[in-house]
Amino acid sequence: MLLEIILHRKLFQYLTYPCKELAEIYQIFTFNYYYLNFSIFLTKNQPKPTKMTLKTSLKMLCLWMGMAAFTIGCSDEFEPGVNDALTVDPNDPVIQRILDAGIALEDIVAYDDHYVAEGDIVFYKEEPHFPGDEDHNGRTEQARSTYLVAPAYRNIRVYLDQASFSSLNLNDAVNNAIAAFNAVGSELQFSRVYSASSADIIVKRNNSIGAGVCGRAGFPFSNGRPFNNVDISESVLIQYGLTSASQLRLLVAHEIGHCIGFRHTNWQSLGESTAIHISGTPSSDGASIMNGATCGNSWAGLSYYDSKAIEILYAAPTIPPPGPDKLLPGDQLDRNESIRSADNRFLFVMQGDGNLVLYKYNVPLWASNTAGLPVTRCIMQNDGNLVLYDNLNRARWASNTHGNPGAWLVAQNDGNVVIYRNGSPVWATNTCCH
Ligand SMILES: [Zn+2]
Repeated sequence: MLLEIILHRKLFQYLTYPCKELAEIYQIFTFNYYYLNFSIFLTKNQPKPTKMTLKTSLKMLCLWMGMAAFTIGCSDEFEPGVNDALTVDPNDPVIQRILDAGIALEDIVAYDDHYVAEGDIVFYKEEPHFPGDEDHNGRTEQARSTYLVAPAYRNIRVYLDQASFSSLNLNDAVNNAIAAFNAVGSELQFSRVYSASSADIIVKRNNSIGAGVCGRAGFPFSNGRPFNNVDISESVLIQYGLTSASQLRLLVAHEIGHCIGFRHTNWQSLGESTAIHISGTPSSDGASIMNGATCGNSWAGLSYYDSKAIEILYAAPTIPPPGPDKLLPGDQLDRNESIRSADNRFLFVMQGDGNLVLYKYNVPLWASNTAGLPVTRCIMQNDGNLVLYDNLNRARWASNTHGNPGAWLVAQNDGNVVIYRNGSPVWATNTCCH
């Protein structure tokens, strides 16, 4: 390393940088130099230096010697950065999660703060914290990826960081993807926003995602948020001439498709590890926008089965016709109002004393235990939460089932009062079976 340091000083004294590659090599040596000799000054806020493998060091030394002899030329080729992949630790819980998603260990590459699986799928080592997130039950529906976008997060706001690009304009591609996904008519609805802080997905340039990789995204997080970043390699697209409006449309829609939980439709022919099949769709679909290794293909719209898959995973909530035994989204019971089971045996009443009570004839089976509080109404909110509010609009009791838009409540003939969303119970008084 001493040799390197001396050479570094010579380089510093005598060389200007005739091209980007030389400047980069200089920077690498500078960084190494400071790391080795002044590590005491490194604070924990500074980025962790890249670990250099022996191979990389030798490669750089060769490059440097070539450069010192002034024989190196500038290449026009896009060179990915130095090999900064780290070791994959199979005991890491995030790795376990990736393996659980059906991805093979050998298809995972580790980096400082994330893993990349199968070339273009990112898994953060620590999931980002989103403002306003509360702990809620992780949903483990089985679909293409382990997690799907939870009902609470199905209005997805997309921000295009156009300023991060030098010459490519992705405005049309982002609008096209949003329109195509919205047209399916599922519960997933996308919109454009114009600040990164209010976005669920940010589309931005990242020229360091690997040689020949056009774009990169990830799967929904365990808390049900859609994946938050679509990285587009402007340099790869320009290098290979893959910049037509049609090509960009397919690329952006494909990456957003990953963000909402789709794996590659052609995972089998790509030799990717076992994916979770969406029943009701075929095992191969040449027209799918989610086929992998298709960068450079043209946009021809979502395939029939792409739309079908979105409908299957993200069906809009079904709400039954109103009835005297139900509270539909937005319905409210004021004091002394009630619903009754269809067989008239069970009464669910917002009492004048502030208590919400379920009776079988005269026998109470369940109560909110809010008697004596100035509760004035019980509302089945549009967000799926059943809430009792007092005269000052303060919530005094709740079923805590928010995040289930389209949920509705029924007083059943078996004595149970249940909140359902798309056929699945999300809350109940657990007072069956009478
Ligand atoms: Zn992909």
